[in-house]
Amino acid sequence: MKTVVANLKMNMNLEDCKNYLDKTKGKIDTGLNVIICPSFLYLNLFKSDEFKVGAQNCYKQKEGSFTGEVSPYQLKSINVDYVILGHSERRKIFNENDKLIAEKVIETLKNNIKPIICIGETTSERDLKKTDIVIKKQLLEALKYIDSDMINDIFIAYEPVWAIGTGNIPSLNDIEEIVNYIKEIVNNKYNKNIKVLYGGSINNENIQEIITLNNIDGVLIGNASLNPDGFIKLLDQIIETI
Ligand code: PEP
Repeated sequence: MKTVVANLKMNMNLEDCKNYLDKTKGKIDTGLNVIICPSFLYLNLFKSDEFKVGAQNCYKQKEGSFTGEVSPYQLKSINVDYVILGHSERRKIFNENDKLIAEKVIETLKNNIKPIICIGETTSERDLKKTDIVIKKQLLEALKYIDSDMINDIFIAYEPVWAIGTGNIPSLNDIEEIVNYIKEIVNNKYNKNIKVLYGGSINNENIQEIITLNNIDGVLIGNASLNPDGFIKLLDQIIETI
């Protein structure tokens, strides 16, 4: 089953969220594994039988004096099953490094929450032809504390930083190659197949060709998930294609 992650980021107030839920109710196809990631504030509100709910971040500790943070232990207590980790906005704006991300990944799994780990190269890394090196480093660092029996519970989202919110996407061939490369690295180390998503400027025009790429397990969608009607159309396009 294909997975579709909607990253709502720091958008929408309570009224907008209620409207979003009204407009999507009864319209999400059960043939897809849809995971919607609203702000922490609205995780409970988004509980639904039609889709899963994920957080957009968490901290690496169980509990304690960490003002403003939210832990996997707390997320699990309200039945959150997924969390996005290592998003490029967290890496860039909040200075998160590979070490912190690795610590969050293991803490998340210890609490039976599935991490969706974002990795991807910046424009300059791409221009310097360092994509492979960057991907491999971010991937192996994020999985540093992971055993092979945890691989089935992890999603990797390949999100080139230069493609996020810009309208630019890599060629289909490049996406396919990187997805294969990620799977190969994990296979070589753990002898397991890891699930890989693509994210970055997905829209109604490119979704069908991306979702049908060989080896892709799903997509992570930012902007195009914010409008409830548009998001439902996108999901319908996926269903028509697969
Ligand atoms: C993202 O931020 O993870 C993302 C995929 O955003 P967008 O779809 O807007 O490029």
